[in-house]
Amino acid sequence: MQGRSPSVPATNTATSSEKCPTCGAAARSRDENKTFPFCSPKCKLADLERWLNGAYRVAGEPVTPPEDPT
Ligand SMILES: [Zn+2]
Repeated sequence: MQGRSPSVPATNTATSSEKCPTCGAAARSRDENKTFPFCSPKCKLADLERWLNGAYRVAGEPVTPPEDPT
C-alpha cells in the first residue's frame, strides 16, 4: 500500500485565538494584528462607530420630563 501518509495533526497555529467582537471571525494575535482583538481595521472601525453612536444616543437622548402636577 502506498501513499500511506502519517497522521499529521492539524497545525494549531491559533494558540491564543480571539474572536472578533464585531464579526465573530478569528482574530490574529496582537503581535501580528494591529487591530487586535478585531480581525481587521474595518471591524475595529465598525465597533468604534457603534460605540460612538451609542454614546451619542445616550448623550443626546431627550430626558423625559417628570410629570408636572400643575
Ligand atoms: Zn471582524
